[in-house]
Amino acid sequence: MDRREFTKLSALALAGTYLPIDAYGAANKQIGYAAVGLGTISDIFMRACANSPTAKITALVTGHPETKGVKYSEMYGVPKTSIYTYETFDRIRENADVDAIYVGLPNSMHCDYTVRGAQAGKHVLCEKPMAISSAECRKMIDACGQAKVKLMIGYRVQYEPMWNQAIGIVRSGGLGQLESFQGGFFGQQPAGAWRLSKALGGGGALLDLGIYPLNAIRHITGEEPANFTAVLATRERSGRFSEVEQSMEWTMKLPSGILASCGCSYGQRGPSSLAINGDSGYLVMESAFNYEGVRLHGEVGGKQIELASTEKHPYQFKIEAEHFADCIRNNKEAATPGEEGLKDMLAIEAIYGAAGAPIA
Ligand code: NAD
Repeated sequence: MDRREFTKLSALALAGTYLPIDAYGAANKQIGYAAVGLGTISDIFMRACANSPTAKITALVTGHPETKGVKYSEMYGVPKTSIYTYETFDRIRENADVDAIYVGLPNSMHCDYTVRGAQAGKHVLCEKPMAISSAECRKMIDACGQAKVKLMIGYRVQYEPMWNQAIGIVRSGGLGQLESFQGGFFGQQPAGAWRLSKALGGGGALLDLGIYPLNAIRHITGEEPANFTAVLATRERSGRFSEVEQSMEWTMKLPSGILASCGCSYGQRGPSSLAINGDSGYLVMESAFNYEGVRLHGEVGGKQIELASTEKHPYQFKIEAEHFADCIRNNKEAATPGEEGLKDMLAIEAIYGAAGAPIA
């Protein structure tokens, strides 16, 4: 994204919504999304679309059409004929009310449903991590390119207004020359969760949580990290972590010389934060990767600053859904296209490799 696009995106994000534009067919036509997989994140995404002037849910894809399918169809006014199963998913091609699919499935299913969605002629908004290998990411980019549909990855933090204020401060030189980052995202996963299965998760906390500080650092600097060192550890012996690591810590160096040190875990409590240190100032993002309550404090131009977002969840998902709707209506590339997911995946593969536990 160049500076002009960034400024425009920030202004629109701060406004909290996009004005309906008539460039995509009939005036005020909303972009219709099919939610694929009706779990936690799709539930949030559907809520975010419920009061949007430019996006709405027009179809559902679920393994439980009679229960979850009916429940959400009644909540969001989706016709019963627009409830699909994973087996009948490809028939979505015939549904003119579906402009795009929203992929909210376990990580290892993202590639298959993105490719099939593209082949059905639908634009794709796919959750992060984009897939479980860079080879899969390339396959998804190619399939969308061949079908001439758009591909966006759900990096909601890149659309978050408080983050965009912080990035504005950094890019306007408010911290002087950037020197280093320290970031982390930590949590707990219960035994039996699909995230602890290598086949479904693809990897452990790095793919799911570590990707947040990684993506933020790449986004803020516009640089691709290299020179990785990494260590992982599984201290718990309950068997919960028999397939993926419990915790990962890594360092990386950007081509300009900026250093970064990050951590993530599926088995510990810890902050969701990113410290951004320059030679004349610093910012600390707190609740940095959470759905709401993002705060920043630090020292900018010799003065202490402190700001806190008052926006209410699921505003990040609303901005994201409306950004992609705007891209579809006005034939623009998403701010977080498939290439963005691929770059993260290449870094993730390098981090696992540095830890001596290659995933691809
Ligand atoms: P979830 O377990 O709540 O939902 C997954 C859905 O996939 C369920 O409806 C489940 O029935 C369905 N499913 C289909 N086949 C399945 C299978 N073989 N095994 C398990 N589930 C299957 O998961 P979630 O938290 O909604 O995560 C889904 C995706 O969204 C993941 O890729 C995750 O990384 C991403 N995510 C993104 C964010 C974000 O803030 N952007 C937050 C949470 C999750």
